[in-house]
Amino acid sequence: MTSLSPARLLEARAFAECLTPGRRICITTHVNPDGDGLGSEVGLVHLLKAQGINAVVTNPSPTPDRYEFLFRDLPGVDRTQAAVKELRRADLILVLDISDVGRLGMLSQTVLERGVPVACVDHHVSQGHLPDGPRYVDPDASATGELIFQLAQANGWPMTKVAARALYVAILTDTGAFRFSNTRPAVLRTAAALLEAGLDPEQIYLDVYANAPEGRARLFAETLQTMVVEPEHGLAWVTVPPGALERHGATADDLDGIVEVPRSITGVRMALLFREIASGRVKVSLRSVGAVDVAAFAKPFGGGGHTKASGLSLEGSLAEAQAQILAAAREYLAGNGSR
Ligand code: 5GP
Ligand code: MN
Repeated sequence: MTSLSPARLLEARAFAECLTPGRRICITTHVNPDGDGLGSEVGLVHLLKAQGINAVVTNPSPTPDRYEFLFRDLPGVDRTQAAVKELRRADLILVLDISDVGRLGMLSQTVLERGVPVACVDHHVSQGHLPDGPRYVDPDASATGELIFQLAQANGWPMTKVAARALYVAILTDTGAFRFSNTRPAVLRTAAALLEAGLDPEQIYLDVYANAPEGRARLFAETLQTMVVEPEHGLAWVTVPPGALERHGATADDLDGIVEVPRSITGVRMALLFREIASGRVKVSLRSVGAVDVAAFAKPFGGGGHTKASGLSLEGSLAEAQAQILAAAREYLAGNGSR
């Protein structure tokens, strides 16, 4: 059994006071949602439902196909359409897996303007701004899903199988399938407790990682062709060729995991993935090995995330963004890899 410190226990109980029946609760997560954002939402909705508390999920981006299976047991939950309308009726907005209103995409403005409490459960190191409301935040947590599990534990909410599956997906995906440095002992204890709810880990693996369209594999192949390695700097990067997503019928979610390939090369301390996004901007995903802090690297560019996995976006062409970011990365790595 996992055990929370007395202080965390009190915090988790205090946080849950905002979750009451009769309140219109709207749950949301960051743009381009990942397994942790979506798994945490679905897990929490099921846990609350079992307590007689209704909540709806309204996200700024569509759910990637690979996570659709989580929503199968949640008929009627609005995830993209009419999201703004739903938010306008909410009297509590609950933001998961991000503390920065700027990462709520098309919902940012409404969240800022509503004037209702904006609660937040998150584990990001670099936190931005959100309107006031209850917080349950821990940058040491492996995943937001782990924090939702703690809320359930601290408040005596029974773990249902559907909730357990969603939280397992959250933790599985944010730890790189239990490989990254955030795979602390407590994470495996939590995962064990979730499996004990009767989950089939192989089926979950198949759903999340082995049910991909052919286009994903072809997108990987084409993107990996662009890889450049600078052993003298410990730097490696790949670039999504312009138009490749459309050509392969792929989405941004299909890029998940590509940056692990340049990261896997001996001697590489920082790996990057560049891609053009709409409106003349370039998105950069950053990963590090060892002591290099990519959240601190991303900060002056308005980005953030975690010490070993961060992201940023900047204006300009692909070539301009690469010139700027790679020059900064070489300098950063020539220093001590932190700010
Ligand atoms: P990914 O590279 O997988 O998109 O993101 C890795 C981590 O960086 C995630 O924790 C994500 O929240 C964070 N991240 C990605 N893009 C951005 C961004 O544009 N701004 C900020 N602040 N964080 C980002
Ligand atoms: Mn997360």
